[in-house]
Amino acid sequence: MPMIPLSASTLKTESWQRQLANAFNRVEDLLSYLELSDRLEPSMKAASRTFGFRVTRFFAALMEKGNMDDPLLRQVLPVGAELEDIAGFSTDPLADQASHEGNGLLHKYHGRVLLITTGACAINCRYCFRRHFPYGEHQASPSHWQPLLQQLQNDADISEVILSGGDPLSLSNTRLAALIGQLQQIPHLKRLRIHSRLPVVLPQRLDQELAGILDSCRLATSLVLHINHPKEISAELAQALMPLRRQGVILLNQTVLLRGINDSVEVQVRLAEELFQAGVLPYYLHQLDRVKGAAHFTVEDEQATTLHQAMQARLPGYLLPRLVREIPGAHSKLALPLSQNE
Ligand SMILES: *Cc1c(COP(=O)(O)O)cnc(C)c1O
Ligand code: SF4
Repeated sequence: MPMIPLSASTLKTESWQRQLANAFNRVEDLLSYLELSDRLEPSMKAASRTFGFRVTRFFAALMEKGNMDDPLLRQVLPVGAELEDIAGFSTDPLADQASHEGNGLLHKYHGRVLLITTGACAINCRYCFRRHFPYGEHQASPSHWQPLLQQLQNDADISEVILSGGDPLSLSNTRLAALIGQLQQIPHLKRLRIHSRLPVVLPQRLDQELAGILDSCRLATSLVLHINHPKEISAELAQALMPLRRQGVILLNQTVLLRGINDSVEVQVRLAEELFQAGVLPYYLHQLDRVKGAAHFTVEDEQATTLHQAMQARLPGYLLPRLVREIPGAHSKLALPLSQNE
């Protein structure tokens, strides 16, 4: 594929679907774009065969050229360490494959269900807990929506539906509108939540039509972004969030704590402050799920707790995300240190 020159004007005029289709899908192309071709290693190609390589050009443009340690690059660059077998790191760390109820519905916590709407993402994050998830078997494709909507209809205890994936915003507006339209007809549903990283790697996805769909929905709506580093908060993202802020969509963020990427007080404090400037509140700081191939991103619980205490000493309470770990079988995400939950 010929290299497509990245310029502000290209990014503004191309549709988000075109930009998704034009994402980097070969390690060597991203490294070449970043002027790091000489750093390509065979193990990177091998790792990208265990979990595909995918990065939008917009996200790549936020990286610093010539810097192998760039915190955004390190989240997406396949490395040889992924191929090591590490005790305690499995292909299904959250036992999701056991707890899913039929096609694409995860009901683990009281009152809220998570819908796996699609397996597609705009970007493949190397630490992702779903890197081995068999999406084909579990996603809620449109033809499977009916039984699932029926199930929601039958359970009056459910007040919130979370659209997740993959990335639910990789669905077209038409599909989202159809799904949301059906959901809002279920009388006991009160809240709609969308978990998405797509606006971060392709702010254009937050188009007028999507804002309109959310605005006309009767459910109280929140958008939970996934931003790990302050460099990910681009001017384009902040601008794209504006209309949603104005129409009252609650904007939250979840971060995964990643070794060598965001495991310092400075980075976390800067992230919290810059999120707020963009109208987003920090929600969760997740301890990494122990998924095979991601062990090299681990921050030990003790270090994470110390970091969190240092953040608390520096930030107003409303900018302090909850430091949590997901434990299979628990009734919620659990706050660290885990001993306080006993
Ligand atoms: C994380 C998660 C939720 C959401 O949990 P909150 O604490 O409400 O943010 C809901 N369902 C499942 C299956 C989850 O993994
Ligand atoms: S689900 Fe989220 S964390 Fe996982 S690859 Fe997709 S965007 Fe990244």
